[in-house]
Amino acid sequence: MTTIDRRALLAGSAAVLAAGPALAAAPKAGVQGPGVYRYRLGDTQLTAIDDGTWFVKIDDDLVRNADTAAVNRALAAAFLPPNILPVSFTVLLVNTGSKLVMIDAGTGGQIADTAGVMLANLAVAGIEPKAVDAIVISHFHPDHINGIKTKDGEKVFPNAEILVPEPEWTFWMDEARMNTAPDRIKLYFRNARRIFADLEKEVRRFRPGAEVAPGITSIPAFGHTPGHTAFSIASRNQSMLVMGDAVRNPYLFARHPDWQPAFDMDGALGAKTRRQMLDRAAADRMLVEAYHFPFPACGHIARSGKGYELVPAPWQPLAPEPRPRAG
Ligand SMILES: [Zn+2]
Repeated sequence: MTTIDRRALLAGSAAVLAAGPALAAAPKAGVQGPGVYRYRLGDTQLTAIDDGTWFVKIDDDLVRNADTAAVNRALAAAFLPPNILPVSFTVLLVNTGSKLVMIDAGTGGQIADTAGVMLANLAVAGIEPKAVDAIVISHFHPDHINGIKTKDGEKVFPNAEILVPEPEWTFWMDEARMNTAPDRIKLYFRNARRIFADLEKEVRRFRPGAEVAPGITSIPAFGHTPGHTAFSIASRNQSMLVMGDAVRNPYLFARHPDWQPAFDMDGALGAKTRRQMLDRAAADRMLVEAYHFPFPACGHIARSGKGYELVPAPWQPLAPEPRPRAG
């Protein structure tokens, strides 16, 4: 650089400093891009629909057998800030070719201010609520069923048959159980009635283990709730495991599968189920999906130390599956 060049450069910087920083031509965006991710399993098309994230303040009650310091160490190991657990919600749409099936229904904007964007993202995906043929429910916690209805009690998916696990229905619709439940849990019983009471004739109850739609089979995964159910999806020679709330946050509960989150109603059974799910996914190298994994909530599970590691699926274009060329 010549002396003259350097002088010109310094003069230029001084001018910029005097005028203040120039604004970029494109303003900073105030919102995230659409939360829609499509992927494929054999001939089945899957669409992950983001419903937002709830940022839960962590206290010593979050995990029954680990204190806040241990939880914060696990968050730090995942490069997450301390004391806040990000709980994201992802609704999975399964297009089998003959049916459009939704697994769990989102929060309906009734859980947290930062969640409830599922319908907006569904519109971006080009899917109208009336196109959903069936809603399959994993369990009756409000963040999984509230999206069935608006706050005012209107059905959101007018043509969808609703399928629920039989033991989940039996538990939450039991009047005697509701009356003796602690207040915190009583809210869940009341909420289940708000969503389902007038839909009883339209709701089909299935026994966990049964096929719920072509290629979608339910799997008993009890512990988180008494009837909590996972699903396997199979198409051609591929299969995946839709784990519901068996694992929840992967950086806490896949890495530390024996930690018992307070949200698991039966902590020991929940931990046993979690290990079974993770072990099956790792051993069979299945694609996994889980409602509270970071969006798009899909990937693989690898064994790691005494626990497991989520290996997130990389974003990829929706190309047709390569098939061997004829001839
Ligand atoms: Zn949940």
